[in-house]
Amino acid sequence: MRRRLRRRFEPYILPRQNRAICEDPARLGKDGAAATGLMSLRGENGRVPLYRDEAVVLRTQKLGEADRIVTLLTRRHGRVRAVAKGVRRTASRFGARVEPFSHVDLLMYEGRELDVVTQAETIEPYGERIASDYGRYTAGTAVLETAERLTAEEREPSLRLFLLVVGALRALAEETHTPSLVLDAFILRAMSISGYEPALDSCSRCGAVGPHRFFAVAAGGMVCAEHRPGGAVTVSPAATALLVALLDGDWTVADAGEPRTQREVSGLVAAYLQWQLERGLRSLRLVERG
Ligand SMILES: [Zn+2]
Repeated sequence: MRRRLRRRFEPYILPRQNRAICEDPARLGKDGAAATGLMSLRGENGRVPLYRDEAVVLRTQKLGEADRIVTLLTRRHGRVRAVAKGVRRTASRFGARVEPFSHVDLLMYEGRELDVVTQAETIEPYGERIASDYGRYTAGTAVLETAERLTAEEREPSLRLFLLVVGALRALAEETHTPSLVLDAFILRAMSISGYEPALDSCSRCGAVGPHRFFAVAAGGMVCAEHRPGGAVTVSPAATALLVALLDGDWTVADAGEPRTQREVSGLVAAYLQWQLERGLRSLRLVERG
């Protein structure tokens, strides 16, 4: 399964450091005001550390009277926190474009602590369509939160995670599948590319080929009857098949799942994600103390 996933994403893997340096602010285009403002940002070597990247807006926070801090999952620079100045003023040119769920094309420059967004163009305004329905909105919010939690380090590029987030938001906005299925598929695949792929078709302890009937979050997925730890839950064959279909992206099988099977799977996926994230946070705290 892991091999299949890797093959699917291989063509998209880019060099880790791919930050473009734009040396000539005049090349920024029609926006003369932005270009003039950037003149004062030239460093000692005369360069403006500008870069352009695509991003999904994960979260926004107010900053002062008119600004926002935006948490972005970018295509080439990983998770980035940046300041979007003046976006809360009604006359702001790009305020509405840097809202959660938006897929945007950004021009930014590197700040001392936070980068600064100078231009934003909408690629897809997923927010409007996702926010108009409660089920889509809650699933979409969970996608964004999971993406932020899984990118523990800022500026650690993960193109595969970026593409998964964009794919999930598009599926939610276009109502391609049940929102909870989109979310579960996203979580399973996002965990897999982050190194936490659950064992589904073989025992996570001994590797015996299944299908098995028990699922244990602490063991890392399905377990055989012999290696079943305390606290393992019994899983229906239909739920096991649905988990495999979601991880593989087999939507013909996934969409045909009964609502009760979907609920069973959602419970397992949520428990698995929560356990892995809590373990991650615990280990992080230990590192900080040491
Ligand atoms: Zn076993």
